[in-house]
Amino acid sequence: MKIGLIGLGIMGKPMAKNMLKGGYTDLLVNDLVQAAVDEVVACGAKQASNEEIGRTCDVVLTMLPNSPHVKAVMLGENGVASFMKEGQYYIDMSSINPVASKEIAAELAKKNIEMLDAPVSGGEPKAIDGTLSFMVCGKQEVFDKFKPLLETMGASIVLCGDVGAGNTTKLANQIIVACNIQALAEALTLAQKAGVDPEKVFQAIRGGLAGSTVMDAKAPMMIAGNDKPGFKIDLHIKDLNNVLDCAHTVGAPVPMTAQVQEILQWLHNHDGGQKDHSAIAQYYEALSDIKIGR
Ligand code: NAD
Repeated sequence: MKIGLIGLGIMGKPMAKNMLKGGYTDLLVNDLVQAAVDEVVACGAKQASNEEIGRTCDVVLTMLPNSPHVKAVMLGENGVASFMKEGQYYIDMSSINPVASKEIAAELAKKNIEMLDAPVSGGEPKAIDGTLSFMVCGKQEVFDKFKPLLETMGASIVLCGDVGAGNTTKLANQIIVACNIQALAEALTLAQKAGVDPEKVFQAIRGGLAGSTVMDAKAPMMIAGNDKPGFKIDLHIKDLNNVLDCAHTVGAPVPMTAQVQEILQWLHNHDGGQKDHSAIAQYYEALSDIKIGR
């Protein structure tokens, strides 16, 4: 199977490497950053233009930042879709607005090209380990065809519904992750201010009801003052903008999302856009004049 992957950032790079390791060695790749392309080519992939990817690949995958990037790459002038024909497939693994997923699927359907929207959860560590969770949407037979490919990158591959439902599921995921990180930052700030070692608090509660994957991943980063991304603040702002947009369209109340979005925006305005989203702790540190764990 000939595969094309466009987008070799924090996530796309290790995902490409895992496809190669999993035996999908006929892999064409493209990114705006040449160093990222070089790294994946050194592992066995081949660099290709969007045109070559569109013309020759059985399946095209994208792992790009947001809806405008995916739409430009796929549907823009000389976009990949303009070179594709019936019988080829498209899988978008980016986290984008579900409305955009449906628009792209509708354009591709005009050429009888089937699409899956397949956003992921798990972040860079699970992208490296090949243990991401995929929220896949589209037709059952397309899902069945590409499940083995997705299994080289993920440990959980779940079909959620029709195209667009994958990105709605991802938005639900992003609300829970953001609000969990905020609660964790608030709790560790309370501990520090009250003179209790945040590391001890973390160790004491991580096995109880408050424990979570978010806590295990982000508490050590907050305590060490490590804000290397991971998942960038600006990308989480993008996801929560999509949550607010979708929620206002369907009439769902999202007051917690609105609040944590303001904190993320404060961090963006204070040079935090490229930091890991665990840097929500830095908002609390600034408010309370402490450093968690230090
Ligand atoms: P990133 O910013 O590290 O990577 C995006 C890549 O896309 C960059 O290498 C960039 O050069 C490339 N790109 C942008 N426009 C392009 C174009 N026109 N042509 C070719 N390449 C282009 O982002 P990431 O962290 O890898 O995230 C990618 C997607 O996955 C996002 O939608 C994000 O929300 C989602 N996601 C990220 C994580 C995470 O923890 N990082 C976890 C789950 C989902």
